Amino acid sequence: MKVFQCSNCNFPVFFENTMCQNCGSALGYLSSSNQIISKYTNQSTWSINGQHYGYCQNYALQACNWLVPVNHTSGFCDSCNLNRTIPNLSVPEYFERWQKMEGAKHRLIYSLERLGLPVQSKFEHEVSGLLFDFLSEEDARAEGKQVMTGHANGVITILLAEADAVSREQIRKSLNEKYRTLIGHFRHEVGHYYWELIFKNNDNLLADFRAIFGDERQDYSEALKRHYANGAPANWKSYFISQYASCHPWEDWAETWAHYLHILDALETAYYFGLEGKPKLNNSPHMDIYPVFPYDNEMSFKRIIDAVSPLFYAVNSINRSMGLSDVYPFVISDAVEKKLEFIHFTLQNYRKNLA
Ligand SMILES: [Zn+2]
Ligand SMILES: [Zn+2]
Ligand SMILES: [Zn+2]
Repeated sequence: MKVFQCSNCNFPVFFENTMCQNCGSALGYLSSSNQIISKYTNQSTWSINGQHYGYCQNYALQACNWLVPVNHTSGFCDSCNLNRTIPNLSVPEYFERWQKMEGAKHRLIYSLERLGLPVQSKFEHEVSGLLFDFLSEEDARAEGKQVMTGHANGVITILLAEADAVSREQIRKSLNEKYRTLIGHFRHEVGHYYWELIFKNNDNLLADFRAIFGDERQDYSEALKRHYANGAPANWKSYFISQYASCHPWEDWAETWAHYLHILDALETAYYFGLEGKPKLNNSPHMDIYPVFPYDNEMSFKRIIDAVSPLFYAVNSINRSMGLSDVYPFVISDAVEKKLEFIHFTLQNYRKNLA
């Protein structure tokens, strides 16, 4: 993600900040210009290019710092306007978990907007739009059947328990996963949504998809059952980014898509920090770290993939020196690289067709 600055005093600030620690200005994020914009605390609204802005309604719940025009119909920003169900916020632990979810979701929406993808709510686009249901254990029980985190027809259901670090770690261990994060969930699930938007009803593109990821018409629930009964094939690492990706082409797509978003976000952050480096290694120019702005529409995939491996190697090494686990605990095989490349080209073409 971009490194933001207070527009009043240039102090570096985080995407989530609502107040500049240096000059005391109130801060809000304007998605249309991708900036954090400051306002003196005695001014009632932000005045930006002749238009008045205020915080999104969820600012009052300490769940959002995005700006919306004061006469905006819903009063919700692009990210909060995607919420259909939120948990009972009078339960303190649900409230806290939902705030964490919103933190991850806002970062997801940031990436999608940088990628030039449509971010539309089903409230305005009933057929092609997106919505989120955040369900507490209570809500899930009330639904009767077993509710899981997942995507169906543009609705992403997220179980709130995932925002609890202890239960997330338990699930991670039980599934033998190397990495389980909130942002990872959001990136994965939204991958299913964009798969439908891009491939459904597009036979030519589907043929290309099947050539790389396999035929998604194979029985999905059987595939999941088989996966949970037998696990991934022994050689999964040569072909898939994760064990779960091996269960069905849809999950392979969503897992690989999530990694594409991980990679782009990491590269963008490094770019804004101006990270460059020549590791003290013998004869290893391919390990040089150089800045790449990954959202440049003409950016070649090769530059992205070449730039990211030394970067991950460096940050993994720093984490290891702190006794922490790797930031990026994955190896990208040649087969996975081809899948990532396919996602890169698919998105480049998709954007061209939108323009
Ligand atoms: Zn400031
Ligand atoms: Zn909002
Ligand atoms: Zn999935």
